[in-house]
Amino acid sequence: QPAIRPLVAGNWKMFGLRSALAQIERLRALLAANPPGADCAICPPFTLIDAAIKITAGSAIAIGAQDCHSADEGAHTGDIAAPMLADLGVRHVIIGHSERRTDHGEGDSLVMAKACAAHKAGLSAIICVGETLAQRDAGAALDIVIKQLEGSVPAKANAANSIIAYEPVWAIGTGRTPQTDDIAQMHQAIRSYLTNRFEDGGSMRILYGGSVKPKNAGELMSVAHVNGALVGGASLDSGDFNAILDAYR
Ligand code: PEP
Repeated sequence: QPAIRPLVAGNWKMFGLRSALAQIERLRALLAANPPGADCAICPPFTLIDAAIKITAGSAIAIGAQDCHSADEGAHTGDIAAPMLADLGVRHVIIGHSERRTDHGEGDSLVMAKACAAHKAGLSAIICVGETLAQRDAGAALDIVIKQLEGSVPAKANAANSIIAYEPVWAIGTGRTPQTDDIAQMHQAIRSYLTNRFEDGGSMRILYGGSVKPKNAGELMSVAHVNGALVGGASLDSGDFNAILDAYR
């Protein structure tokens, strides 16, 4: 089993005015004082990306985006293309988050097209998958997630350009998390899928996301094949996010 450098990525969702940039400045100082043994990324709203990149220049914090369009450019009012993000210095882009799948009706084929666009622009795609509570209760969680991977992860995915985020929909923003056994089973299934399909699938990072907090991060991050976290609510506060990174100190 190859050693995998974990990634802890913060998803700010649609939160953050310019005043929130102070959190990124603070996080930068916290990480400089006490570096974690994990990569670290913050994905603020589009409006803060340029400023966030300037603040984090030369630091251990990578800046990501929360979505991109599937086309390089075009007549798509209100959308943002992957090359525009790359041009700013963005490193990662979250693709297929459950809130995009729900709010904007994004299905697997669009998610795959967006991931391809991200790859073409040189970005790493954080591709999100996860079952609903009804699907888990029906015993369909593993099948659903593997089907999402099949439909969402491009054929040219590799450990450098793609990161999988397993986020059970019912654990996002709810304060509920799955049993560690259930996380272990899912991450093992995702690992097997990736290893079968991709040459370096054994090295691709598989993040867990869904109500990761300072108090549960140590336990969640110690589960086999959990190679980091995608953190929503708790990433908005630099102190909480830094405390989550303690799992890797
Ligand atoms: C997320 O937005 O991807 C997420 C996991 O949110 P939260 O940590 O708030 O559950």
